[in-house]
Amino acid sequence: MLDHDLHCHSKFSDGTLTPTEVVNRAAERGVKVLALTDHDDMEGLDEARAAAAQHGMGFINGVEVSVSWRTHTLHIVGLNINPNYPALVEGLRSVRSGRGERARKMSDALAKAGIGGVLEGAYHYAENPNMIGRTHFARYLVEAGHCRDVKSVFNRYLVKGKPGYVPHQWAALADAISWIRGSGGVAVLAHPGRYMTGRSGMGKKTMHELLTEFVELGGQALEVVTGSHTPEQYAEFARYAEEFKLLSSCGSDFHGPGESWRDMGRLPDFPLSCRPVWQAWENDAVTKVN
Ligand code: AMP
Ligand code: MN
Ligand code: MN
Ligand code: MN
Repeated sequence: MLDHDLHCHSKFSDGTLTPTEVVNRAAERGVKVLALTDHDDMEGLDEARAAAAQHGMGFINGVEVSVSWRTHTLHIVGLNINPNYPALVEGLRSVRSGRGERARKMSDALAKAGIGGVLEGAYHYAENPNMIGRTHFARYLVEAGHCRDVKSVFNRYLVKGKPGYVPHQWAALADAISWIRGSGGVAVLAHPGRYMTGRSGMGKKTMHELLTEFVELGGQALEVVTGSHTPEQYAEFARYAEEFKLLSSCGSDFHGPGESWRDMGRLPDFPLSCRPVWQAWENDAVTKVN
């Protein structure tokens, strides 16, 4: 069992718990090293770090950056970042800035599909209004009785091709990697299996092109064990990691009790060929001492 959980969310993005509650839950579930990786926002890191110290738990500063690449939306996790690095702070501010307008467009689109008043309802769920996103819409649509759970709302209304989906331009891949690397962090391609599923998913050739570009731009790791992969996908992406000489990362992608694919902690071990991403900062620490 892996004792690192390097991908999870708090109320500062689209999770339902405070950073302290996330850390407490991780501690209860046996996590020894945690990274909080809120979408496009680093506001929760100080609180989470303080809570982790109370448990004697290792804590890694993280963030999950939204990126547009070709026709795809990708998520790049930054681990061991410096949250005070100006280019990262400014870059994330620019990524967040389009969310309000996007939310209005989503609400208008849903109104056209016969579901009114969604904007106000969604904001009610967004504790950090700058970070309004699809998950907050989904929670409201469940409350309003349109679907029985968040997952069904996504499938019926919020994914590409559905009535509430609004295309959006996120950060460029090169920028996201450069903000993360510039701050001293490690750039990780999050949940790659998700980009290959569904009707608009990419094929193997495109995944190869993405990984080639990711490596050229300074990307260092691939999420192999994540709450959104099947065991077959652990093996598949362990092979990609080997082929592209990438480190391997792991995380639950926990958003809240009862909402996630997987709860915190209790992630199965990496396939044997994987080199864990924490080698990056553990080696760093050694070179800094010398
Ligand atoms: P946004 O950044 O506003 O586009 O929202 C992206 C978030 O929506 C992801 O981080 C997930 O938390 C959630 N999400 C995306 N796709 C799905 C899905 N099919 N089912 C449930 N949640 C999803
Ligand atoms: Mn999310
Ligand atoms: Mn993600
Ligand atoms: Mn995530």
